[in-house]
Amino acid sequence: MAILGNKRPLKKPIGIYGGTFDPIHYGHLRPNLELCEILELDHVRFIPAFLPPHKDEPQTSVAQRLEMVAQAISEEKYFVLDDREIKRGGASYTVDTLKSLRQDYPDQPLCLLMGMDAFAGIDRWYQWEELLHYAHIIVSQRPETDFDDQKQWPEAIQNFYLTHKADRNAIQQSLCGHIRLEPVTQLSISATDIRNRLKNKQSIRFLMPESIISLIKYYNLYR
Ligand code: ATP
Repeated sequence: MAILGNKRPLKKPIGIYGGTFDPIHYGHLRPNLELCEILELDHVRFIPAFLPPHKDEPQTSVAQRLEMVAQAISEEKYFVLDDREIKRGGASYTVDTLKSLRQDYPDQPLCLLMGMDAFAGIDRWYQWEELLHYAHIIVSQRPETDFDDQKQWPEAIQNFYLTHKADRNAIQQSLCGHIRLEPVTQLSISATDIRNRLKNKQSIRFLMPESIISLIKYYNLYR
């Protein structure tokens, strides 16, 4: 347990990982397991978006995306499926999700986990500056970007990062409010690439668990 300045003990942080997962792949799974170890997270909650506000509508049904995520994380004890955005319906704004998680976990640090590509566009998210009122933001390095790419971020995001960046202790010892970049094993995989390969009748082996490939075949998805 971490100790705050005022000696109030905090439980281990919870990782929060949202995405379309259309479909889920190793680029979603491996970085989060590493973040679990690096930040000593209690667990990571995978939260599929009902309607992602910044992307095209998913190509598969909600039930199919839920099934793929549930199957992909079923054998990892640190990963948990959370369907609150699906149940809530409408546009899936992360700030709303964090508010509801904060109510469920009032005394545990929350860590919003995302790739650098997502962070580089965070200033387009609904009420983005309020995200830190409820959680920390942990940015994992994505293959096609590197940490020097910070200079290419919009100025507002550079300032956001510089104002709130913190070390690992700060993440574990406070409920919210900090940003941290963490390097993770690089896996140059994206759902878009997987969907394109399927359309082009190319193999998607070794990009995702075999069980997800079986589900994609079973439902004849992304053709
Ligand atoms: P799409 O290609 O459809 O845009 P995606 O593969 O990027 O999908 P999403 O579900 O949109 O996956 O992304 C959810 C989160 O996963 C985002 O924070 C994104 O940055 C992160 N992410 C996706 N792929 C990787 C990867 N290969 N390595 C690290 N993070 C990733």
